[in-house]
Amino acid sequence: MAIDVFKRFSCSWCHEPLTDAIYVCFDCLLKKVSTDSFIIHKKCLDELPTEIDHLTHRLHTLILNRSDSDYLCNLCQKQHSGPYYGCSLCHFNINVECAWPRSTVEDRSHHQHPFTLLRRQYSFICDACGTEGNCISYICSTCSLMVHKDCTSLPRIIKFSRHDHCIFHKYFLKDLTRQDCKICFNEVKLDRGSYSCRKPGCNYVVHVNCVLEDERLYKVIEDEKQCEELEEKSMQSSIIRVIEVNEAGEATKIQHFSHQHCLVLADKMEEEIDRKCDGCMLRISNILYYCSECPFFLHKTCAELPRIKQHWFRQTNATLNFDSFLRCDFCHQYGSGFFYKIREYWDMCLRCAKVADIIECEGHQHFLFFDFKYREKCNGCGANIIGKGAFRCGKCRFALDFGCLTLPHSVLHKIDEHKLKHTYHDDKEQSYCDICEQYRDPSFWYYSCSICDTSAHPECVFGQFPFLNDGVTIPPYYFNHHHALKFFRKVEGFPECSRCGKFCQEEILKCKSTCSYIFHYKCPRGQY
Ligand SMILES: [Zn+2]
Ligand SMILES: [Zn+2]
Ligand SMILES: [Zn+2]
Ligand SMILES: [Zn+2]
Ligand SMILES: [Zn+2]
Ligand SMILES: [Zn+2]
Ligand SMILES: [Zn+2]
Ligand SMILES: [Zn+2]
Repeated sequence: MAIDVFKRFSCSWCHEPLTDAIYVCFDCLLKKVSTDSFIIHKKCLDELPTEIDHLTHRLHTLILNRSDSDYLCNLCQKQHSGPYYGCSLCHFNINVECAWPRSTVEDRSHHQHPFTLLRRQYSFICDACGTEGNCISYICSTCSLMVHKDCTSLPRIIKFSRHDHCIFHKYFLKDLTRQDCKICFNEVKLDRGSYSCRKPGCNYVVHVNCVLEDERLYKVIEDEKQCEELEEKSMQSSIIRVIEVNEAGEATKIQHFSHQHCLVLADKMEEEIDRKCDGCMLRISNILYYCSECPFFLHKTCAELPRIKQHWFRQTNATLNFDSFLRCDFCHQYGSGFFYKIREYWDMCLRCAKVADIIECEGHQHFLFFDFKYREKCNGCGANIIGKGAFRCGKCRFALDFGCLTLPHSVLHKIDEHKLKHTYHDDKEQSYCDICEQYRDPSFWYYSCSICDTSAHPECVFGQFPFLNDGVTIPPYYFNHHHALKFFRKVEGFPECSRCGKFCQEEILKCKSTCSYIFHYKCPRGQY
């Protein structure tokens, strides 16, 4: 972190600006440097008194402890490392910064009046964030506010990734009925501080601590004028040029960034053929753009997606691109088509990108919201949720990962003449998959036909690569073959598998080069 960051703060001991060598608490550095952080001049570190009598702990003297281990400060309730004052009898520890809080805090960019220190022996509820504080509070007598030290400098306006508009900090909200925080779905106390959207009809209110918890999800807005600008800039169209428009103002002929020829608008497919949208890789039958020179189709909604947008997963911009073989980092499916690139790290397929952070879903009676910290199992497939979080219910123990949420509602498969429907409940105790004939856990989601009593695992219905285009090239490292391979959903005649020797017809990988190597994906990997 650049030293410039610290210039805004002052030394926890002498309260002078931080110009020369400093010591910073490692935990504060990891989380977020704020007015509560323990930062001290190197020279002041040596001057710290070895024991102090402190108002917040009147019964015993507090002793300076110069260890480097982590401890919890009983005043600011935060984890710190480095020197602290403690009472070993009562297990009472305080951060050096909290031992000598500055008497006033003045920063007009955050609040128009100065805040003054008020030490009390009791806890209080902070007017700015609505949560409890201990002993050290700051008050503004003009506005009659009592707040945490950290809350004297809350950003007035922020742009949060999970809402399209800028949101504003308010100490109370007038004329509203009960509001739940749109992040944790617990009640927001309207007579205490929160962040909310001003746009009529939005009704977007969140807890201060919920919205400021993860720095990667918001951006501080210094000037209100920036809001409109920011909201507009995050929308750059994927349609490079509109060539023809009809009477209703719809673009009937366009040039799209993803295709070299012009695309034409149509109400439905000309022939009854099973086609996929080249953007989202799902079935396409009506309201679409097609290419008149080569087979290329896009749902109108997929063609109109912004080239650059801010997706709720991060506050930074996501860019739309296309690829023939890529793995989505959210549903973990390999696929072709359009992907949003988020922060250079993650590729997100369109099926995942279209899921909002708060959703209703057929398989559950309550709405679900995305919880970045969720680390248990997915109720759809039983997979452990690692890393990114999941969509969770606020009322009962239920969560879904991106993979289960983005499965199509119905699908055709040769085992049944009817469409198989995505099914969420199975009353049977023993269930088998009619495709692989193996055991199927009835507590997980599956596909079924109620007329014929057919049922199957989702992975058996879709195969390994449901979203991959036929004939795409798969890089050599993926299947451990020394040449690149081509993927085919079906092949003519029953070629013999180079790995297991059996005849195989579906989901074939075929060597692109001259070695006539061919195998089906289910064969174990190895060196061939
Ligand atoms: Zn507070
Ligand atoms: Zn909340
Ligand atoms: Zn809004
Ligand atoms: Zn599509
Ligand atoms: Zn995906
Ligand atoms: Zn529920
Ligand atoms: Zn059927
Ligand atoms: Zn085989």
